[in-house]
Amino acid sequence: MSEAKIIDGKAFAAGLRLRVAAAAAELKTRHGLVPGLAVVLVGDDPASQVYVRNKGAQTVEAGMASFEHKLPAATGQAELLALVARLNADPAVHGILVQLPLPRQIDTEAVLAAVDPAKDVDGFHPVNTGKLWSGAADAMAPCTPVGCLMLIKDALGELKGKRALVLGRSNIVGKPMAALLLAEHCTVTLAHSRTVDLAAECRRADILVAAVGRERMVKGDWVKPGACVIDVGINRIPAPEKGEGKTRLVGDVDFEGAVTVAGSITPVPGGVGPMTIACLLRNTLIAACHQKGVAAPAI
Ligand code: NDP
Repeated sequence: MSEAKIIDGKAFAAGLRLRVAAAAAELKTRHGLVPGLAVVLVGDDPASQVYVRNKGAQTVEAGMASFEHKLPAATGQAELLALVARLNADPAVHGILVQLPLPRQIDTEAVLAAVDPAKDVDGFHPVNTGKLWSGAADAMAPCTPVGCLMLIKDALGELKGKRALVLGRSNIVGKPMAALLLAEHCTVTLAHSRTVDLAAECRRADILVAAVGRERMVKGDWVKPGACVIDVGINRIPAPEKGEGKTRLVGDVDFEGAVTVAGSITPVPGGVGPMTIACLLRNTLIAACHQKGVAAPAI
């Protein structure tokens, strides 16, 4: 049995960050434009703090400006909306990211809808969702599925006519992933917890994207031989072999089972994960170009 090609998302993301940095340097030289990303963190969730720190560091590394706004957990809706309004009006800020999850007292939908769609580098604003589904060229698409699509295209080349199965229908991964694959002329199935005979649906897919949040749910015999398997899932499980109380990350796909059947597959960690921030930087660069009225580089 031959083994699948392991898709190295870490290396791909590093290359993408370099391309973003080169494009940012050129924008600065030619147009005096420094793309700026504002990240808003409310509260002290440790995982969110790590994400925000990484986003800030990688933004600066790419030669762009990073603005971090850390607000206390008790921040009210009005105060957060006022900050978003200030960032919307700030010409040095081209991208705004409000780190989720937000504390309970805040209406997340209202905050996301308050971000200027032109600065919505997360692609969560309803205007951008509509643009994505209607195929508008200037749609700002969510970062994780954009990263998945890049990996799929790198692995397979032309996607036209391929059967794609997206497992999971969240607004941040599953649905935009389906829209992006549809735009590439795939025949797309969007599966979820009420899908009947998930295994059979998966077995038909040339491209299988798993975004469920259920550890190793997709078994090797659910995978069509030669398929491209993209595992978005991040699940932390106990790892007693590493010591008492230790954990490790696994995806939504049973990697050991799938790697002998698939044509290409992303590992967890080191697959989709690193692509998200790299795509956020890319979205910020593109948003800055649109706002300045200069052509966005093809990266
Ligand atoms: P959500 O919980 O929002 O959505 C999960 C989806 O999976 C839902 O549509 C749900 O169906 C479906 N689902 C759940 N259980 C089953 C089941 N047993 N059979 C079939 N479908 C099922 O998750 P997210 O989309 O936010 O995230 C998915 C995974 O991706 C998580 O592990 C998350 O950590 C990871 N992730 C990784 C990112 C990265 O950068 N690599 C970024 C974002 C997420 P239904 O709608 O019917 O309830």
